[in-house]
Amino acid sequence: MQNLRDREKLAAWDKDYLWHPFTQMRDWLAEEPIIIERGEGVYLIDVDGNRYLDGIASMWTNVHGHNHPELNAALKSQLDKIAHSTLLGYSNIPAIQLAQKLVEITPKGLDKVFYSDNGSTAVEVALKMAFQYWQHQAQPQRKLFIHFDKAYHGDTVGAMSVGGIESFHNTYNSLLFKSIRVSAPETYRSSNVVDDSAETLKTRWLDTVEQTLSEHSEQVAGIILEPLVQGAGGMLIAPKGFLKELATLAKKWGTLLIVDEVMTGFGRTGKMWACEHENVTPDFLCTAKGLAAGYLPLAATLTTDEIYNAFLGEYRDLKTFFHGHTFTGNPLACAVALENIAIFERENLLDRLQTTIKHFQNQLQEFYTLPHVGDVRVCGMAAGIELMKNPDTYTPYPFEEKVGIQVCKAALAQGAVLRPLVNTIVLMPPLQISISELNSLLDRTYRAIDTVTK
Ligand code: PLP
Repeated sequence: MQNLRDREKLAAWDKDYLWHPFTQMRDWLAEEPIIIERGEGVYLIDVDGNRYLDGIASMWTNVHGHNHPELNAALKSQLDKIAHSTLLGYSNIPAIQLAQKLVEITPKGLDKVFYSDNGSTAVEVALKMAFQYWQHQAQPQRKLFIHFDKAYHGDTVGAMSVGGIESFHNTYNSLLFKSIRVSAPETYRSSNVVDDSAETLKTRWLDTVEQTLSEHSEQVAGIILEPLVQGAGGMLIAPKGFLKELATLAKKWGTLLIVDEVMTGFGRTGKMWACEHENVTPDFLCTAKGLAAGYLPLAATLTTDEIYNAFLGEYRDLKTFFHGHTFTGNPLACAVALENIAIFERENLLDRLQTTIKHFQNQLQEFYTLPHVGDVRVCGMAAGIELMKNPDTYTPYPFEEKVGIQVCKAALAQGAVLRPLVNTIVLMPPLQISISELNSLLDRTYRAIDTVTK
């Protein structure tokens, strides 16, 4: 930053002109904003030159670190050719190459790629395709989607309609389409409150889904879920095998399975796709966040030939999929995504990641030595540390105490950028974080929790 006045001017303009997402702006206006100017690997650097470990991979997107030379080079090289041309009526080289690559690296059976710009739109595309597929199958009554409590699939109206987070979604309830919400496949609260094994819980949840399917067997268009871990709902881990058995149920009842890998995709769970842990090929797989390595907005919805073929027909039959965002298949974003995947392959990242994951998971156990840590949930390189007023009686901190926010502020003072999910502290660093950087992140987080909850 050139001088103090520039910094002050930016801070003032931020407050004068910007409306930040998911932010109570009155609180924002009362504080000095952190204004990021640069990135270096896992560090974010603000206009004052302060360095912060990016503990949330810039909202769960960053894979290989910021300002990565090879990703930068891929972007610049594409920029010298063309920044954007439309996929409506034309094609472009990176979009074609990336579609081929995505089909190659996703579970077998997913053969077609439909691009959009973000996680919410990737989900909208899957919902609309599933809905329209049934019309082409002469089953237009199949309009209902089964989704889970605490689910988060994005903020557009369709994605919210299959969401299950009360604080995010209740305000908009009357705007949303009808769907069927079933209880969430997570073990923490239930296993603590009701003394049950994960296996028993899994059976109970699956029974609920099957019961719902049997009651609405002719109306269900599809089931949508976040595989293995529900992110924004609080990093809630599903029991092992839940995804696989849910896929079996979807098949048994002849409905479609939409797997939202927006957060879990691109290595976050330790495999390229969460689906791979349980050998599942869904009817739709949605990916975004890590797809362009956290560089640019890009999303894709993959589906099967069977779904795709149902949309083929005469022009006049209107079987076309009437959907397409302006920047769909943007060449810059696709070029970066291709390089992202190339780095995974060149560097054997998924193999190397296993050591980091083991270390992460072991070190996280230390957090239980803090008296207000109720639960530490971890799946691959995604963790949630849930803070409780009294973990023994399972008494949460009151919402208005903003304990999660306070911890993140304390972490910032220690040089780590975090963002809470109410009272759950999320740790989701870029996958390429080194062991010593990871130790530093864990240490800063531990101290921040200790300071606030002491
Ligand atoms: N689906 C999941 C599982 C997510 O975690 C998110 C975002 O956090 C979304 C969808 C929405 O993605 P976006 O914010 O890019 O619209």
